Amino acid sequence: MDRYAVLGNPVAHSLSPGIHAAFAAQAGEAMEYSALLVPEGAFAERASAFFSGGARGANVTLPFKEEAFAFAARRTPRAELAGAVNTLIATASGIEGDNTDGKGLLVDLSGNLGLKLRGLRIVVLGAGGAARGVIAPLLAESPASLVIANRTPARAEELAARFGHLGSVRACSLAGLRGPIDLVINATSSSTRGESLALPPDLFGGATFAYDMAYGAAAGAFLAEARGGGATGADGLGMLVEQAAEAFHLWRGKRPQTAPVLAALRGAR
Ligand code: NDP
Repeated sequence: MDRYAVLGNPVAHSLSPGIHAAFAAQAGEAMEYSALLVPEGAFAERASAFFSGGARGANVTLPFKEEAFAFAARRTPRAELAGAVNTLIATASGIEGDNTDGKGLLVDLSGNLGLKLRGLRIVVLGAGGAARGVIAPLLAESPASLVIANRTPARAEELAARFGHLGSVRACSLAGLRGPIDLVINATSSSTRGESLALPPDLFGGATFAYDMAYGAAAGAFLAEARGGGATGADGLGMLVEQAAEAFHLWRGKRPQTAPVLAALRGAR
């Protein structure tokens, strides 16, 4: 049976194995998908062992997306642009790296949640692997502006410089943010880690849509803070399912229906 896995740390509570099992059942594909905990500093070694054992592909989650970029023998243009890889594909000519996070976020925001991004003022909180994957696809939607705000401002500045040729993008510190903002996307790992984000109180207003890439209970504190400021919002479960569907399509050549899988996950929570 063809083998796949999600590689990350932590990874035990990943929903990806269940999502891919549902896609495989829907598409009639015989495949096995597991969650592999990778110790920090051991990504290349564990990924090499996984693929040497005949695996067909992998998803990569925090904190390894930049290491996965270096691990891949070659990368798709959107992964090159991002500087981060969340999907690895075994091909006849070596391991290819791609990035499906941006597509997943855009399909969720525009398709599932009905947002129109053109002309919006957008803030992306965070400058890690997830942020890298979504900046170019967001800029392609022609927002009025895009600000990358990070705890370590130098990392936000690096990303703003990297993507500056694609649209209006600038960097700032979390404390330097001024609101209200039309769309605030939390791409930090603070929610997943159960840590609080020190955000200015005026960031959220009645017209703000707040989106946390984390999902379920982990997204609760960020979304509660946003709703306290009058915002509406959503967690990142839809993005998770949509980026997985894009990876499944890359691996198996079939595009699964995401709506029933997302509905089942929401119903189970
Ligand atoms: P990384 O480890 O690469 O980056 C983490 C980022 O979070 C950095 O910018 C870091 O800032 C910031 N950060 C961490 N803790 C805090 C804190 N307490 N306060 C402020 N900033 C903080 O992680 P990823 O980018 O890979 O993932 C980020 C999140 O997005 C995770 O929760 C992940 O689960 C989620 N995600 C969800 C997806 C989905 O499909 N729904 C897809 C991809 C990611 P600094 O630079 O200062 O360290």
